[in-house]
Order: sequence, then C-alpha cells, then structure tokens
Amino acid sequence: MSDRVQMLVALQDLELMIREAEDPTSKETEEALGFTMQGIEKLQMDCEQLRKKIPKPDLRLYDRIRRRYHRVVVPVVSRICTGCFQGLPTSRTRTIPTSRPLPTCESCGRILYWL
Ligand SMILES: [Zn+2]
Repeated sequence: MSDRVQMLVALQDLELMIREAEDPTSKETEEALGFTMQGIEKLQMDCEQLRKKIPKPDLRLYDRIRRRYHRVVVPVVSRICTGCFQGLPTSRTRTIPTSRPLPTCESCGRILYWL
C-alpha cells in the first residue's frame, strides 16, 4: 500500500471513529469504546494534523467521495471493489506512482487499495 493511500485510510478510520463517537444514537458504542469528550477532541486534532500531511488533490478527491459514501477508501479483494462489489478490469495495477491520481473504482468512484 502506498503512503498516500495509507494516510487516507488512517484519516477515514479517524473520521469514522469521530462520527461514531459523536452520534447520539450510538451511545452504547461510545461507552463500549470508552470515549470521553476529551478523547473526541484528541481524535479531531489528530485528524487535522493528518489532513495537513495529505497531498491536496488526494484530499479533494477524498472529500468529494465522502459526501456520497460512508467508506471512501476500500480494499480490492480478488479484483473486486469491496465498496460496490463490482469486478475491476484486469488492466488495473496495484502500483501507484506518486505523480498520478489515485486509483478509483470505475463503478462507484471510491478510492481503491490492494491488500
Ligand atoms: Zn466500487
């Protein structure tokens, strides 16, 4: 996995955790995870720090997809996008040159990474 994708996956995990923790309907989850308000603030700070490290074009793409889907960055398993479960063309490679846009699913548009 490239560092670029790794940072987006970390950001996604953080944001999902914050969303869960802030959701009043998931009080049980919050308690189970041991979240405090202070804990959430810490997560939000980590989130801000991480966003500063991510290349701008990657962040723009991430935020655009985030408006449509809960999970933005999804792993590819057996050439299938685990976001929409559509098969991917065999021509897709797992290498991501730093200068190129991140690979996205042609069906759902999510950012892909290979495990
Ligand atoms: Zn997809």
